[in-house]
Amino acid sequence: MASVTLRYFCYGCLVTSATWSVLLFLYFSREAEPGRGRTPLQQHSQPITKGLADQRAGRGRGPRPPPANKGAELSPEMGMIFSEADQEVRDTGYHRHAFNVLISTRLGYHRELPDTRDSQCRDKVYPLALPSASVVICFFNEALSALLRTVHSVLDRTPAFLLHELILVDDFSELEDLKEDLERYVREELKGKVHLVRNQRREGLIRGRMIGASHATGEVLVFLDSHCEVNQAWLQPLLAPIQQDRRTVVCPVIDIISADTLAYSPSPIVRGGFNWGLHFKWDPVPPSELNGPEGATGPIRSPTMAGGLFAMNRKYFNELGQYDAGMDIWGGENLEISFRIWMCGGRLLIIPCSRVGHIFRKRRPYGSPGGQDTMAHNSLRLAHVWMDEYKEHYFSLRPELRERDYGDIGERVALRKRLQCRSFRWYLDNVYPEMQTVANGNKQQQQQALFVNKGLRRPKVLQRGRLRNLATGRCLVAQGRASQKGGAVVLRPCDPRDPEQDWAYDEEGQLVLAGLLCLDVSEVRTFDPPRLMKCHGSGGSQQWSLGKSNRLYQVSVGQCLSVVQPVGPKGYVAMAICDASQAQQWQLEG
Ligand code: UDP
Ligand code: MN
Repeated sequence: MASVTLRYFCYGCLVTSATWSVLLFLYFSREAEPGRGRTPLQQHSQPITKGLADQRAGRGRGPRPPPANKGAELSPEMGMIFSEADQEVRDTGYHRHAFNVLISTRLGYHRELPDTRDSQCRDKVYPLALPSASVVICFFNEALSALLRTVHSVLDRTPAFLLHELILVDDFSELEDLKEDLERYVREELKGKVHLVRNQRREGLIRGRMIGASHATGEVLVFLDSHCEVNQAWLQPLLAPIQQDRRTVVCPVIDIISADTLAYSPSPIVRGGFNWGLHFKWDPVPPSELNGPEGATGPIRSPTMAGGLFAMNRKYFNELGQYDAGMDIWGGENLEISFRIWMCGGRLLIIPCSRVGHIFRKRRPYGSPGGQDTMAHNSLRLAHVWMDEYKEHYFSLRPELRERDYGDIGERVALRKRLQCRSFRWYLDNVYPEMQTVANGNKQQQQQALFVNKGLRRPKVLQRGRLRNLATGRCLVAQGRASQKGGAVVLRPCDPRDPEQDWAYDEEGQLVLAGLLCLDVSEVRTFDPPRLMKCHGSGGSQQWSLGKSNRLYQVSVGQCLSVVQPVGPKGYVAMAICDASQAQQWQLEG
């Protein structure tokens, strides 16, 4: 398939802006070693596979992956395809792992990261004597390079006296290189502190973490996903608050590692919430949380945690009931443990001075062995055990789940009683007062609320005009007619005379197109692109915040409106994790 090589090579030449030529020239002149009879292209790709082979054979780390890289300043050529083999690595990688494995492999197992902490964090002092940590990492079919970069980032950036051990739990992975190769690497290269535990059958991440914890002997458990990179001095700020109060559970700020470029970038300081579809979402931090003595670097109380990244006293983890072992594979466990922590006498904090990067993928590359919707099964257990009468909000969004079997929850109900946990009402009132209880209820309730609360008043329009995307210069319009309910929105050339390009942004945060329909996201299928729906006037799925940053933040799903890249002729948009890119910048212009 020489055509593949040619196509990509010539693509590189054809996009010859001066920049590309300069970059390529600099790159090759740095990398090429004369006299070895190889073209620059081969020179580039060869050390990578060789490097990996060397690592697998246990003969050291192999050559340092080219080019030397400083995280956020990822060189643009890092993802370039120079051979059929590269193409294959990339394609299989996206298929199996949903991120760019070509770049991940080229990065190797160590890299520098930008220090994303607030500068004040560097001046903080922590006690020397802190509890020791057992880091637990579960993985299922993870890309070897991502898994080992996670492991090495911990080994490289954790003071040895604080790292009691690192436990890898293989959740019955199928990929070949996670078998003997990994075992040998752990045995020969990571001797001592890293232990590999293999599940005898697929357990899912919830029981997987419980198994990892059962092997741990450190004072504190730290859970990480298998595609993370911990940053500078990440652990001390997590251990210190646990030492002060063993019932404090802490999360680092989860920085973003791009699935496409592997670039590492800081996350804004946000905290965890959820919607009535029982999906996790990010919320802005209420100003009251930022007024502590430590200002922007102080801990932030968070109603929920995002999932895989947190630290907790190990004995307290056991006392508090670990996880619900009746939950399968993935989903819901993060809300379950969050509700349980708050309702049963603990607290959950986000620590801005601790930063851990996580690869955010656009889809989860695996399913459950039987194809079940484990998120629904787990959410049902969560709702029935912890949410009291508020589970009705979930059922009004998912009426088909009312009669669905969710297994035996007797033990979890008994646990709640034994720990004398508070009510869900208490949790909402005291921990998550921002949660709207009416807005997301059933349609009838919503309508009633609308009539009662607003007396049918039309919300005041704050701004109106065309909604221009700054990356493309194009404007957001209905894909079909602006009056078509359920229709998608896309980017088209702006036309000031077209009334179907007229958006009104009102005091309720609604974006109304042509005075007809509201821009709406699904709170159940959060990966769906936004659509035009009848305005329901009760916030939530139709509530957008257009701030100074020019981002269009969707309050209910906690993501931002973005153009899908690369921009195609169809001009699709989608919801994405908020970042500072032009793709997410919008201007409402009159
Ligand atoms: N995982 C696992 N078994 C499973 C599913 C997931 O061990 O059946 C691991 C996975 O490899 C990852 C962690 O659990 O290290 C969290 O899963 P994932 O990253 O897919 O969740 P997300 O970050 O997408 O919420
Ligand atoms: Mn993950």
